[in-house]
Amino acid sequence: DPILKVRDLEVTYITDNGDFKAVKSVSFDIGKSEIFGLAGESGCGKSTIAFAINRLHKPPALITKGSIEYDGTNLIALTEQQMGVVRWKDIAMVFQSAMNSLNPVLPIQEQFADVMRHHLGYSNEQAKERAEKLLDLVNIPRERLSEYPHQFSGGMRQRLVIAIALCLNPKLIVMDEPTTALDVVVQREILQQIYQLRKEFDFSVLFITHDLALMSQLCDRIAVMRYGEIVEVNQAREIRNNP
Ligand code: ADP
Ligand code: ADP
Repeated sequence: DPILKVRDLEVTYITDNGDFKAVKSVSFDIGKSEIFGLAGESGCGKSTIAFAINRLHKPPALITKGSIEYDGTNLIALTEQQMGVVRWKDIAMVFQSAMNSLNPVLPIQEQFADVMRHHLGYSNEQAKERAEKLLDLVNIPRERLSEYPHQFSGGMRQRLVIAIALCLNPKLIVMDEPTTALDVVVQREILQQIYQLRKEFDFSVLFITHDLALMSQLCDRIAVMRYGEIVEVNQAREIRNNP
């Protein structure tokens, strides 16, 4: 069974100038352990879908139709409290800017510990041990745990965000333009990293970017959106062979 089933999803921005359907009857599945790409030009509705899946959408955005089934549960029907458990623990989100996820005035070690204390009930010692292992996996030296976000490069910060997300072993990670702000060499390193981590942790990924070439290096399948609709879904291999 797929880990995520999106059916006939419609998201409308309700504004003073009228209603605007940014997402129109979108359906797709993400398989277990699959890296699923969502491509399309800026403004076609990708981020709106990413936020809706995590129920992080806010007014004026409103889910006006459809269902988002995660592991058999329709997320749209959950209370905010129930959704709070699913969010991060089952579905993590990585944004374009790592600084949206990191606290600038807290050492990295504390940010790992907060997540593990809060969600897993870990002691500081347990959290430190796990954080060190995760840093090893994203190739950041353990001794840098005491540093603050601004002391890391942009690429390292994004790797830290991914490592923090992995604390809770999410089954799905929604990544919205996770490498767009980074240079090409660093982008490639992060894609490699995601690919390796997926082997280790066996999560699925919804990978969102406007950069089709980049996406075809990583994804198993790619859906292409235009004006709020999915217009095609391809195996990435086809795109690699016919750029
Ligand atoms: P993408 O992620 O593909 O760049 P978005 O999901 O951010 O696209 O936006 C989809 C459409 O919804 C765009 O046309 C955008 O202008 C519109 N939109 C986004 N946010 C709002 C908002 N807060 N109010 C009204 N329209 C919005
Ligand atoms: P609370 O229940 O105290 O509101 P949350 O679980 O909502 O705590 O997390 C608060 C913030 O911490 C989130 O908005 C997010 O930025 C960050 N966060 C928590 N867990 C994770 C995670 N697994 N991956 C990425 N960021 C996380």
